[in-house]
Amino acid sequence: MGGMYEDLKGPEIPSVLSESSIILLPVGAIEQHGPHLPMSVDRVIAEKTAEAIVAKCGDELDIWLLPTLSISKSNEHNWSGGTISLRYETLMAVLNDIGESLSKTNAKKLVLLNGHGGNTTLLNTALRELRLNHLLETFLIHPALPPAYGGSSTEDELGMGIHGGRDETSVFMFLRPDLVDLGKAERRVPEKLAENKHVKFGGSVSFGWLSNDFHKDGYIGDPTGASPELGEKLFNAAVESLCEALSEIKSFKFKE
Ligand SMILES: [Zn+2]
Repeated sequence: MGGMYEDLKGPEIPSVLSESSIILLPVGAIEQHGPHLPMSVDRVIAEKTAEAIVAKCGDELDIWLLPTLSISKSNEHNWSGGTISLRYETLMAVLNDIGESLSKTNAKKLVLLNGHGGNTTLLNTALRELRLNHLLETFLIHPALPPAYGGSSTEDELGMGIHGGRDETSVFMFLRPDLVDLGKAERRVPEKLAENKHVKFGGSVSFGWLSNDFHKDGYIGDPTGASPELGEKLFNAAVESLCEALSEIKSFKFKE
């Protein structure tokens, strides 16, 4: 069995949740994504992906979906009025509090499904804190692995399509076509950065970038070729591969 965690009744929790249940927490963001996309992109993609996962393999894998953590760490966009961000201390404290609450149930496995690349470093740190502080077995998955963390973006974007680029715009167009204004999109690929061998997204040297370092419009990539058809393909492939990953998570043993 699996489903929406919040639909469970209090007295059911001890019998429904067991050591092999998976608790899935989508983490979104409310942040600027350029003139062609709304603030909700990362939240919507994380939540819809999580819902599709539960529909596809939730029963089989005993997955329980928590409500989306919609506001997270988006301070690379703080220059843009309207972006809503938690400080890293706040987000870490929120995750710790959620972990403490879950530690009072029988569930042991907590999976964070992150829709916002700006959270990845912090969430990776949180995995170990949650394990040590609350004895949870913790995992981090992404609808699409951010290019700055080993994921890919299109060749045409020189691998630099990290925010509001072709793939992300396509997935969002598939999910919420009513909220996309592709007429306002232009190519915003940081060509100079891509020429570097080491200091670039996905290079061997990380750097503390802000989203308006490359262009004042604040999106990074080339959304002009985005389409809902491509988005549907990417979305379905992500759900398929995440169900496969979750099945491995289910049988994963921390100690041999
Ligand atoms: Zn995004």
